[in-house]
Amino acid sequence: MNVKDIYVYIEVREQTALDVGFQLLSLSQTLKEQYAAKSIAQDVVAVLVGHNVEKHIKTCHDYGADKVVVVDHEVLNFPTTEAVTHALTQVIKTFNPECFLIGATVVGRDIAPRVAARVATGLTADATHLEVDPADDSRLLLMTRPAFGGNLYGTIICPFSYPQMSSIRPEVFVKVLYERPVVEPIRFDFSFTPKHTIEVLERKVKHKEGGDLKKAHMILAGGRSMANHVEKLQEFASSINATFAASRGLVESGKVGKDIQVGQTGTSVRPALYIACGISGAAQHTAGMENAQTIIAINTDPEASIFQFSHLGVVGDAVEVLKEVQKYL
Ligand SMILES: Cc1cc2nc3c(=O)[nH]c(=O)nc-3n(C[C@H](O)[C@H](O)[C@H](O)COP(=O)(O)OP(=O)(O)OC[C@H]3O[C@@H](n4cnc5c(N)ncnc54)[C@H](O)[C@@H]3O)c2cc1C
Repeated sequence: MNVKDIYVYIEVREQTALDVGFQLLSLSQTLKEQYAAKSIAQDVVAVLVGHNVEKHIKTCHDYGADKVVVVDHEVLNFPTTEAVTHALTQVIKTFNPECFLIGATVVGRDIAPRVAARVATGLTADATHLEVDPADDSRLLLMTRPAFGGNLYGTIICPFSYPQMSSIRPEVFVKVLYERPVVEPIRFDFSFTPKHTIEVLERKVKHKEGGDLKKAHMILAGGRSMANHVEKLQEFASSINATFAASRGLVESGKVGKDIQVGQTGTSVRPALYIACGISGAAQHTAGMENAQTIIAINTDPEASIFQFSHLGVVGDAVEVLKEVQKYL
C-alpha cells in the first residue's frame, strides 16, 4: 500500500478547536523534519472535524499544517463517538496516511481504538515521546509510553499495518508557531446516517474545582501529608495568584476532588512555576508536571525523589516554610 503523510485529528467541540490538536501539528513538523533527513517527504495534514469549522483552518496552518482536510457536518457539532469514528475511518481509508495522531482527550481516548480497529492497525495509547526510527532504511515511528504504572517506559512500533497510530495527552507537547502558508482546504465529502444507538438528551458542563489546570501559569500542589492543611495551602496559592492542585495522595485523602489531580491519571501541566508541597515525587505524579519551567519542592524528607525533578528544593515542613515565605509577600 502506498502510504504517505502525517495526519492529525483536530477536535472541535461546539466551535472551539482544542489546543492538543495544534500541539500535535507542531510535533508532526518535527517528525516531518526527521523523515526529511532520510529523504522521505511527508506533509503534515490537519483533519478538522466538526460543523462550520473552516474558521480554524488558518490556525491549523499557523501551528504546522501543510494541508487541511475539512470534514464538516451538522452531526459533528459536538464530537460523538459514532460520528467521529466514522469520519476518521473514512479519511484514513481515502488518503492512506503513514502516521495518524489523536489527542488523548475524553473523546480521543474513546474513538482512537475504534478507528484503529476499523482500519486494522495498532494503536499506542498515551504516548509521551515520538520519533522517527533513525535507522537508514526505516520509516517506523518509535512511540514511547509509560507502562506498569509509570515505572517502565516501553517503545512500541507498528511495522506491519498502517497508519502508525498514537494518542497523546494534552500538554505533553507544546504548540509552536510555524505559520505555514494557507492553502485551499480539501473538503471531504462526508455522508453519515446516525444509527442512534446512543441518543444524547442533554449536555451539562461540569463545574471544575480550581479553574483550568492546563492553562495555569503558576501551580501550587499539595500531597497526602497536606490533608489537614488544604485551606492554608489554598490561601497561600491564591495570595500568589497560583492555581491549587493535588497529588493522588491528597485526592485519596478525600479532602479535594480528582479534578485537580496532576499526573499520569490526572492532568498533565506545563506552568511557568510548580510548587510541590509534601509530594514524594512518584513517577506517576512527575509524569504530569516534569515539564514545568521551574519546579520548587518542599519536603521534610531530604531523600524524597521529588528533589530529583526540582530546580529548587527546601527541606522542611511545607506549612512552616510557606508561613515564612508569606512574611515577605
Ligand atoms: C496506575 C497509577 C496511576 C497513578 N496516577 C497518579 C497521578 O496521576 N498522580 C499522582 O499524584 N499519583 C498517581 N499515582 C499514585 C502515585 O504512585 C503515588 O502514590 C502518589 O503520587 C503519592 O502521593 P503523595 O506524594 O502526595 O503522597 P506520599 O507518597 O505519601 O508522599 C508524601 C510526602 O510528604 C512528605 N511530607 C510529610 N509531611 C510533610 C510536611 N509536613 N511537609 C512537607 N513534606 C512532608 C513525605 O516525606 C512524603 O515525601 C498513581 C499510581 C498508579 C499505580
